[in-house]
Amino acid sequence: MSRDLTSKYWDEELETLPREELEKRQLADLKEIVKFAYDNAPYYKRSFDEAGVKPEDIQTLADIQKFPFIDKKTQRDTQGKGSFLGELAAVPEEDVVFISTSSGSTGVPTMSPFTKKDFDEFQDTESRWFWQVGMRPSDRYVHALNFSLYVGGPDVIGAQNLGALCIWGGTLPSERLLFVLKTYQPTVIWTSPSYAWQLGEKALKSGIDPKKDLNIKTIIVAGELGGSIDATRKAIEDLWGAQVYDFYGLSDIFGACAAMCEAKDGLHIAENHILVETVDIHTGEVLRPGEVGELVFTTLRKHARPLIRFRTGDIGWIDNTPCSCGRTHGRIHISGRKDDMFIVSAVNVFPSDIEAVVRELPGITGEYLIRVFEKGFTCKYSVEIEKNGDNPKTDEEVSAEVSGALKARIGVKPYEVTVHPDGGLDTRSEHKSRRIIDERKLDYSI
Ligand SMILES: [Zn+2]
Repeated sequence: MSRDLTSKYWDEELETLPREELEKRQLADLKEIVKFAYDNAPYYKRSFDEAGVKPEDIQTLADIQKFPFIDKKTQRDTQGKGSFLGELAAVPEEDVVFISTSSGSTGVPTMSPFTKKDFDEFQDTESRWFWQVGMRPSDRYVHALNFSLYVGGPDVIGAQNLGALCIWGGTLPSERLLFVLKTYQPTVIWTSPSYAWQLGEKALKSGIDPKKDLNIKTIIVAGELGGSIDATRKAIEDLWGAQVYDFYGLSDIFGACAAMCEAKDGLHIAENHILVETVDIHTGEVLRPGEVGELVFTTLRKHARPLIRFRTGDIGWIDNTPCSCGRTHGRIHISGRKDDMFIVSAVNVFPSDIEAVVRELPGITGEYLIRVFEKGFTCKYSVEIEKNGDNPKTDEEVSAEVSGALKARIGVKPYEVTVHPDGGLDTRSEHKSRRIIDERKLDYSI
């Protein structure tokens, strides 16, 4: 099949389905996958029986709300039980061709299995996202994501299937990656937002101007929230003279389940694969589109290990209003991880809100470190930042300015803002940065 290179869509019919038709397809797949899970995965058989629900109870999409949630803990508890693939798996090991595992940053790593069909559909979805951000067969693409166990590694196959020339960069050291960018002049790269920033700065320091000496036109970012924070995204775009698009993936589902389009207003989610709900983080009550809560995903087509009402731990909201790009699949807006959120004076604070402030203010480098701690049995936060070398203001003035901007945006002032000179914070790490230190001893988890 020869593809229309002038079309803005990878799969026009699918991407622009009227919502009514899209939901009709979702319902058919939902009925099938819930029955498949019940018939083949020991965990679902047990949990549906205990909850008194049957696959036949699914008559509308809203009927999914009758079914119990699962979460990371369910995955850990059922992993390796009954078989190598565990009790959530719904196929025998012979049908599985690939497994990825989570990073284990919040506990024991969890494994995600794929059948051949699951994997092929995963790659077709990735091709769709690459096409959506403008990649075409004439592009040269550097996939600068970890290949070891990580579900983002094989996304590169989606770019190859699209026809782009692919360079499997992985986690090359910066000097070698810059050599690749300079020598082969690729046009598209995928990495984390913090690394995209640091790589651009490193290039400048070694005498390479990313705008003039390199040919990168598109930067895909994922793994951290930066790509959805306007100030961070624009800073990377200015540094590279390129367009930045945010992708969102889950080790439990696909390398990227959702991606920005040219409107850069939320991320279109592959609704043909995922039924999205948002629920109240405390009560589990289902929320309406536009209301902020925990994202809950049901995989509609993954057979190796269906996820029925999986609480992702990510906080965000759904937008089903039409997008200017013409795609009808809904968009998700992500505020942050539930685990990273902290509550100060009854206000929910996300590190992404703090980042947005620090990246917008002039005269500071944009690097930051957040400390969350308790004082007098209440939760507090403090922020450390770096002042630009040419900023004429005193540290006290800068501190007051940042503190005021944080109060204005978040609603609660930081306990203190510490000002360091440029380069004084040790937060610049390769590929993925950790910028929050939680020193609380009491359990404030929700
Ligand atoms: Zn769009």
